[in-house]
Amino acid sequence: MLFHLQNQTISYDKKDILHSISFSIKIGEKVAVLGKSGSGKSTLLKYLFNLKTNSFAYVPQDLSLVENLSVFHNIYLARLDTYCTLYNIRNLIKPASKEINLMKNILNEFDLNTKLFSKIYNLSGGQKQRVALSRAIFKNKDILLADEPISSLDEYLSSKALAKLNETFKTIICSLHNVNLAINHFDRIIGLKNGKIIIDKKCSLLDKEDINNLYYVCE
Ligand code: ADP
Ligand code: MG
Repeated sequence: MLFHLQNQTISYDKKDILHSISFSIKIGEKVAVLGKSGSGKSTLLKYLFNLKTNSFAYVPQDLSLVENLSVFHNIYLARLDTYCTLYNIRNLIKPASKEINLMKNILNEFDLNTKLFSKIYNLSGGQKQRVALSRAIFKNKDILLADEPISSLDEYLSSKALAKLNETFKTIICSLHNVNLAINHFDRIIGLKNGKIIIDKKCSLLDKEDINNLYYVCE
């Protein structure tokens, strides 16, 4: 079991945000967390991330990119702790062609192949999100935790990005507020409303009432 929460309340200071929530997530599941702004999605993902920090590739909602560094350097940082110091210094000064090629292949999948040496501050919001997703893939983990990683992408790029993530990661927990994308790209949906789980179901078992419920969760 990757996560097992039993009547867990999650708070900031003394304010409860998620109220006595329970669920389990197994390795191999692809879970979408749906809910409108303020429902507690980021709080939940941060909580899960803090339980097992080193196990995931994590895309926080604010992306945590360094604006005045290049796309290459931002993505490279994801592997800093897996390479030796000398190799890291060399790459930060003069990127090795092995790393460049690896990254170009990933960026290509997100229609960003011409941006490898662009500074982050010169990119659009949607391009930044795709850099953060490329960095998550470059990190080379089996599990992805991603917090609204496609909120600035159009429908075509969103579907393409989610398909690539699905192909790359064995396990995904991803917050979204698009019901259709959640149903089309994930195995299971957890719907949050005002800090409570109001639906938790496999997509293959969703009936009409559940889908109405999911729209209610997101409105
Ligand atoms: P979502 O990601 O679904 O938009 P959040 O998890 O960001 O929701 O927020 C859920 C609730 O927690 C909101 O009421 C928000 O104001 C509150 N909250 C978020 N971050 C903090 C924080 N750092 N300190 C106190 N309250 C917070
Ligand atoms: Mg959020």
